[in-house]
Amino acid sequence: MSDELKDMVERGRFKGEIRFDEPLSGHTSLKIGGPVDIMVFPEDPLSLKNVLRAAAREHIPLFVIGAGTNVLAGDGPIEGIAVSLKAFRSIEVTQESDENTAVVFAGAGTPLGMLLGLARKNGFSGFEPLTGIPGTVGGAVYMNAGSYGTEIKDLILSVGLMHPQGEIQVLGKEQLKFSYRRSHFPEGAVILSANFALAKDDPAGVARLMDEYMAKKKAAQPLAAASAGCVFKNPEGDAAGRLIDAAGCRGMREGDIEVSPVHANYFINRGRGTCRDFLVLMGKVRARVRENSGTELETEVKIIGAMER
Ligand SMILES: Cc1cc2nc3c(=O)[nH]c(=O)nc-3n(C[C@H](O)[C@H](O)[C@H](O)COP(=O)(O)OP(=O)(O)OC[C@H]3O[C@@H](n4cnc5c(N)ncnc54)[C@H](O)[C@@H]3O)c2cc1C
Repeated sequence: MSDELKDMVERGRFKGEIRFDEPLSGHTSLKIGGPVDIMVFPEDPLSLKNVLRAAAREHIPLFVIGAGTNVLAGDGPIEGIAVSLKAFRSIEVTQESDENTAVVFAGAGTPLGMLLGLARKNGFSGFEPLTGIPGTVGGAVYMNAGSYGTEIKDLILSVGLMHPQGEIQVLGKEQLKFSYRRSHFPEGAVILSANFALAKDDPAGVARLMDEYMAKKKAAQPLAAASAGCVFKNPEGDAAGRLIDAAGCRGMREGDIEVSPVHANYFINRGRGTCRDFLVLMGKVRARVRENSGTELETEVKIIGAMER
């Protein structure tokens, strides 16, 4: 595959960067992850298409990494191709069709914070409860990221994606069957962009609400520590953090991975934590919660290049 990629570059069929044996620890907020065989940073849709097609033809596993803020990557080596859409960073107000609504287009590699920044500046309302969620637009759409009762699906109009053979398609939100921290994209599809519908409002009011949500989040979550956000999904009608706490797991540690003393559904990397430590701690916490409350916690973080035990 590496020869094929080099050939693509020489023939002008791939524009962007290609790295071999790239440590994923540099691409995840947990700072965990061994070397992946190949990591590509395509600069345009055609380059992405050529990589997707080559990987499909040769049956090479391929996955997208956004900002890696919900990812637990294996200690490696990790087989396959990691794709970063950092270059797909664009944002545009495409429509202010009527007095009340604005439509905003964002490329998948756009930091979510940048999109919220545009909404704040223009007084476009809807995103406020999502303030403080790190990551990219592509990752937020794939995960249906949400907080304080709002999910990103509530604001999505449509999503642009590329199939493994390179065809581009735009799907309406009803076709994607979003649910709690889940989306249903066609197998192997890469999200390219999304359109959002926002309500036009007073910029000062939007900014005030965003600041309030940020302050709330800062007080309740260890935002500055190395984590991957919530490890487990909240079970229906309850909070995983509350169950983990009730089972006495707050502060539990495996190697350098610790159940956060601030929010028990966050596991923190205190320095040299590994994927193995993280998975062992997940297993221990899950067993204690099961024993204490009878609830089976479902994993929220996306595990790449490793197996849950
Ligand atoms: C401190 C902290 C706080 C957080 N708070 C919240 C919160 O309040 N609410 C919440 O929902 N989440 C939260 N998260 C989790 C995380 O930030 C979100 O899930 C975020 O939307 C993930 O975006 P990302 O770009 O980092 O995606 P990644 O973590 O890189 O990827 C997540 C998944 O999406 C897939 N993916 C990413 N981009 C694409 C693409 N373009 N096409 C196809 N698949 C893609 C990846 O393959 C992976 O399976 C938090 C995380 C941290 C570290």
